Amino acid sequence: MRLRCVVCAATYAALQVRYRCDCGATLDVVHDFPSDLSLAGFDARLASKAPLDRSGVWRFRELVAPLDEGVVATRREGNTGFYSSDRITKYVGASLRLKHEGENPTGSFKDRGMTVAVSVARQLGMTHVACASTGNTSASMAAYAAAAGMRALVFVPAGNVALGKLGQALAYGARTISISGDFDEAMRLVEQVCAKRDVYLVNSINPFRVEGQKAIAFELLQDLDWHVPDWIALPGGNLGNSSAIAKGLSELKTLGLIDRLPRLAVVQAAGANPLYTAWRTGADLVPVRAETRATAIRIGDPVSWRKCLRGLRETNGVVTEVNDQAILDAKAQVDAAGIGAEPASCATVAGVKRLVAEGVIPADADVCGVLTGHVLKDPKVVVDYHTDQLEGVTPSYPNPLVEVPADLDAVLRVVDNQA
Ligand SMILES: *Cc1c(COP(=O)(O)O)cnc(C)c1O
Ligand SMILES: [Zn+2]
Repeated sequence: MRLRCVVCAATYAALQVRYRCDCGATLDVVHDFPSDLSLAGFDARLASKAPLDRSGVWRFRELVAPLDEGVVATRREGNTGFYSSDRITKYVGASLRLKHEGENPTGSFKDRGMTVAVSVARQLGMTHVACASTGNTSASMAAYAAAAGMRALVFVPAGNVALGKLGQALAYGARTISISGDFDEAMRLVEQVCAKRDVYLVNSINPFRVEGQKAIAFELLQDLDWHVPDWIALPGGNLGNSSAIAKGLSELKTLGLIDRLPRLAVVQAAGANPLYTAWRTGADLVPVRAETRATAIRIGDPVSWRKCLRGLRETNGVVTEVNDQAILDAKAQVDAAGIGAEPASCATVAGVKRLVAEGVIPADADVCGVLTGHVLKDPKVVVDYHTDQLEGVTPSYPNPLVEVPADLDAVLRVVDNQA
């Protein structure tokens, strides 16, 4: 296992505190995979009760990171549900199955990367971890750090973190610093702090986070008995997750464990769309000032854009953008289907709907989507949508709160209207 620069290909020893190449670019983990890996071997672990086998990340440990078993901090992450619904199929115009990463221990896919990053921190002998976060990374880091007996330091953009996420960071005991700036400024600050202090940075600039998140692709394929779908769609913010899924798929193909790659569809919020612009124009990414109600993807200067564009090339992928109206209407559909997810997750569904309407995704394609976070992460946006209190968004599928005096006849009038 080594680290390799995505730009100049310089390599470094894997187990050291390092997030960037000397040239400034990001780093990949490059593996020396064992030669005896088999899909049947991964499947056999599904019947095991050993903690590492029960984790939807460490079940694939040879593909993720060969660490000493004793340092691994696992909470049985992964093992998330896969859903299809007639409502969603009708809404997007194609068969879309949804892998619900909001069912991870802290309610987002970040747990898959965090179990690896925190375990590496332990292997390196670090006692403190830190991240900048739109919310879910901090919730995840705080929980894994607490479980591993480490101190956690969180930087969040003031006023722009959903309540469920901020509550988790505080609950799990992270020292939480509210920066009067946006995520991108918090990110720059935390990188500087980690360079000056003995603190391990676990944002997705950390190459081991990406290794853990590859397991979304592994588990999704395992759920499908290793049948490769035509498309995998997911939201794009800092672009660690799309980079991870593309890397994991490419490695499976290189190893000969699958024989073709699905196409990736990365969906950005229209108000936070620098990847969309870079992909369309073929130019390097130009940061933007980000604005969207899907706060988990409210990122204007994504750290993993080079890795993501590489993954899009390798998978013949596409990028699209959807506005907040489309995201929140898609969320109302996902929620009403009984599945439920936070706003950024539902960019996946809105994006697939758009790509089907444009003919990019054929109506008969086999499409899988990733729902990235739990419906309870952002309860305020749910109530604000259904009570029509979101400026610039008109709810197409409102389910408003019905206010009635404590009077039986009045209540019955509402009940009878409903029926
Ligand atoms: C982090 C996050 C994203 C964005 O993932 P990136 O790896 O930053 O592109 C999307 N949705 C949710 C719910 C998230 O927590
Ligand atoms: Zn370099």
